[in-house]
Amino acid sequence: MGTETEERKYVRLPVFLEQGFSFLKRDVLDNRICCLCGTCAAFCDKIEIKTSENELKPVLVEEYDTICGMCYAFCPRTFLPVSEIEARIFGEEEARKKAEGDVLGIYRSCYAVRSKKGDIKGQDGGAVTSLLAYALEAGIVDCAVTTTSDDQWRPISKVAKSYEDLKQSAGTKYTIYPGVIGIRDAMGAGGEHIGFVGLPCQIQGLRKVQTSEQPYEVGKERIKLLIGLFCMENFKEGLLDFVKAKLSLDLERVRKFDIKGKELLVYDDKGNSYGIPLDEIKRYESEGCSVCADYTAELADISVGSVGSEDGWSTVFARTKTGEEIVEGAVGKGYIEAKEIEEKGLGLIRRLGESKRKRGEKDY
Ligand SMILES: Cc1cc2nc3c(=O)[nH]c(=O)nc-3n(C[C@H](O)[C@H](O)[C@H](O)COP(=O)(O)OP(=O)(O)OC[C@H]3O[C@@H](n4cnc5c(N)ncnc54)[C@H](O)[C@@H]3O)c2cc1C
Repeated sequence: MGTETEERKYVRLPVFLEQGFSFLKRDVLDNRICCLCGTCAAFCDKIEIKTSENELKPVLVEEYDTICGMCYAFCPRTFLPVSEIEARIFGEEEARKKAEGDVLGIYRSCYAVRSKKGDIKGQDGGAVTSLLAYALEAGIVDCAVTTTSDDQWRPISKVAKSYEDLKQSAGTKYTIYPGVIGIRDAMGAGGEHIGFVGLPCQIQGLRKVQTSEQPYEVGKERIKLLIGLFCMENFKEGLLDFVKAKLSLDLERVRKFDIKGKELLVYDDKGNSYGIPLDEIKRYESEGCSVCADYTAELADISVGSVGSEDGWSTVFARTKTGEEIVEGAVGKGYIEAKEIEEKGLGLIRRLGESKRKRGEKDY
């Protein structure tokens, strides 16, 4: 244990040291609430994400000789002391000021953002790629863990170390993938100032890693920046085969997937677009998403989504001081343009956040 001040940075958790993988299996995997964020496998070399009983899930690849409980402590689905984590990240005063039931989370400013780099082909305004590019140039991070895909749109994590690497990761991949394992790769590659972009569950897992007071030496001080994406839900890999069969379209030819309103939109390389009603793909929704109450990645340094801004722009919440400095720095260095969004412009995001929270809390 460190000094008293050091200790206060960490969330005091109930003792989970006896609660090893068998407890994770009992409370999370057997309850089918694993979100496949990858946090357990990223930090424990005895756990891998593998196909087992026809689905991707964390499995123990080596028997424990000692039980450490790290996977249980870091998993975002075992317990999530949101207000304690907020107090550590945003400061006790900010956490106290947050209104009960607020679904937007704590933030300093909110903008509609568009990239000023013509070669960044983002999902919406290319905000994520441009903010990461600025953070890399400014030396705030020395690499960023992103999610790219293979030619069949299956997600793959990437340790991006250059502007070119970042550009290849732009765009949304709508199937579930344990992206946090990219942090292990970034650490293995010598990253000392690591950035990460991912979904709300992945940000929750990483914030538990950063704020847990348990004595795990996992290099958490090397994780410097978390960019979270808004997320209503994610889908199982079967979605890709369904789309391929339904549209008789080789996925290699798909240029973009998007969800707008009540449709999954698929754009091909010939300029055609196809719409599939969300009702038709409901069966591919990941069960693990049903208990999530976080729409806007409330615990991130910066959160980014499409809802709330016009087409071609991204909505960006700068939540922490680091997050705000990055947005302001990216404007100053000509990476992005940003227009402030006032509180009254956040109605739709708030409504979607409330509906996700209601669903998540009901199923928990
Ligand atoms: C599964 C999913 C569901 C989403 N649902 C919503 C929603 O309901 N409402 C909303 O407003 N926005 C949603 N988004 C966010 C939206 O699609 C855009 O990612 C966001 O607006 C950023 O756009 P951009 O142009 O700024 O990002 P870009 O510059 O295009 O960068 C996108 C970044 O996202 C990362 N990424 C892509 N796919 C994944 C993935 N599967 N897992 C982790 N990281 C990934 C890439 O690494 C890249 O760095 C969702 C995203 C995902 C992945």
